[in-house]
Amino acid sequence: MRLFECGTLVPGCDWHTRANDDSEVVRRAVEHMRNTHGETIIRENMVDNIKARIRDEASVA
Ligand SMILES: [Zn+2]
Repeated sequence: MRLFECGTLVPGCDWHTRANDDSEVVRRAVEHMRNTHGETIIRENMVDNIKARIRDEASVA
């Protein structure tokens, strides 16, 4: 699984999401940025920032 923790980008936010592929993680993260952090315009560098912070999560049975 791929994991993105919003706190790595927005200090203090404990929201996180995980999905099987990066594009799904980015999609959900962008949605979260819009809904929670009021980012109505998602800049290209924000997508890059999200991608740079997605990491592998060892699957736990
Ligand atoms: Zn957040």
